[in-house]
Amino acid sequence: VPTIGVLALQGDVLEHARALEQAGARTVTVRRAEEVDQVDGLVLPGGESTTMWRLARAFELLEPLRKRIEAGMPAYGSCAGMIMLADRIRDGVAGQETVGGIDMTVRRNAFGRQVDSFESDVPLTGMGDTPYHAVFIRAPWVESVGDAVEVLGRAETGPNAGRIVAVRQGRLMATAFHPELTGDFRVHHYFADLVRRAMRKED
Ligand code: GLN
Repeated sequence: VPTIGVLALQGDVLEHARALEQAGARTVTVRRAEEVDQVDGLVLPGGESTTMWRLARAFELLEPLRKRIEAGMPAYGSCAGMIMLADRIRDGVAGQETVGGIDMTVRRNAFGRQVDSFESDVPLTGMGDTPYHAVFIRAPWVESVGDAVEVLGRAETGPNAGRIVAVRQGRLMATAFHPELTGDFRVHHYFADLVRRAMRKED
């Protein structure tokens, strides 16, 4: 059984832990550098990326996280967590850093005021035939991706149709939406499987 950590600086930690347990993982919270080394995979939850960045810096977690991700630890970021896993961000606050790992540019609060929060059905590659009912809360989108990045999902309807909202690069994945809120844990199952395969060195 994989042990999957949830970065617990800020954000909806408990909901992710519950979803991961539904997906057959053991979960622990991660707040300290030592704890980063004790997990088989890590979820970076939604919340507020500026706060998460400041806390990660204060707790001296940025470097340990970068090191483990470079060494191949699987990680999944949702919303603010997606921002944290982006190599490049737009509309960050002055000096805002990320952990990085995914070769993409992510725009914070991209969907804008009028659609601060919304729900939309998004077909997701590799996660079943029915579209995923995705909840977006002041969500980012992915503005551009490098060649190594696989696009798993795009917004389907409305003025922002076509925008990339789910990606994977090797053992790293990210969604602009919050899959921990709806009771449909396909995204967590997908990530838990990815962690199991990484533990068996299958990919
Ligand atoms: N707008 C937030 C940020 O910039 C993300 C929102 C969320 O995680 N729900 O970090």
